Amino acid sequence: MTASDTPFSPNALKDRIVFITGGATGIGRGTVEVLGGLGAKIFIASRKQDVIEAAVSDLTALGIDAACAVCDVRDPDAVERAVAECVEWYGGLDILINNAAGNFPCPTAELSPNGWKTVIDIDLNGTFYCCRAAYPHLKASEHGGRVVSITTSLGRSGWPGAAHAGAAKAGILSLMRALAVEWAPDGILVNAVAPGPIAGTVGVDKLYIETGREKEMTSRVALGRFGTTADIGNAIAYLCSSAGNYVTGLEMVVDGGRQWTFTANS
Ligand code: NAP
Repeated sequence: MTASDTPFSPNALKDRIVFITGGATGIGRGTVEVLGGLGAKIFIASRKQDVIEAAVSDLTALGIDAACAVCDVRDPDAVERAVAECVEWYGGLDILINNAAGNFPCPTAELSPNGWKTVIDIDLNGTFYCCRAAYPHLKASEHGGRVVSITTSLGRSGWPGAAHAGAAKAGILSLMRALAVEWAPDGILVNAVAPGPIAGTVGVDKLYIETGREKEMTSRVALGRFGTTADIGNAIAYLCSSAGNYVTGLEMVVDGGRQWTFTANS
């Protein structure tokens, strides 16, 4: 995936400073390639130093301005420090992307309190900590601050077999809608993007490719294919560019029509 997969003008996000959690892998990685290709400066925060440093060096080789900090989003002090590092490095923060998440399939009756707490801590609490730490900088952004959090339609429908992740994503969506109203007077737009199954991600590889269910699962998508990380990056680019100037409090579902196919088949 390269920046040439985007239909936006190459300067659509020129000099915007992006703080993204989990931006070194999967959807986050595809997103930073799209945003970086549109002129944004990228700051990646997640736990594995070797992984984030390798991503920064790959992005730099693509001509994208990139930096990183080790950060576990479950630790509010670590989040504060990572945001401060980003602001010190680039001189500000215009766009926050809450992408980091953890998940594992487990029937709810067998889920331990610790398993439940871990996913809520990463997904929901981590998103709150990042929003809280980024707020003064987003408010000060000369471009108008943006927050985009990654959710899933299964947050709204309920997620049998991963109720912990579904509940966390539903909480994130509610938080985004509250902040869309609370932070509108500060010029900050707050939205969510809900991807369908995205090719080349660990979850889709594990759940559908390795189990031989690719054909069955793509047949449940109206457009007949898994999404790409660029599909999600481009949706986020829309929300963060001036094209999205009148959009706030939205959950943009980017799933090839899968949610409606389920409805039609039920
Ligand atoms: P992924 O590659 O596993 O990305 C998750 C990222 O989160 C990793 O880079 C990981 O980096 C980071 N992370 C995990 N725990 C963290 C923590 N405690 N602190 C900081 N960073 C942490 O998976 P993905 O599929 O691209 O998922 C990205 C987002 O898309 C998630 O919000 C997921 O729920 C959502 N989503 C994915 C799909 C899909 O089809 N893949 C569909 C719907 C929604 P470290 O391990 O280095 O910390």
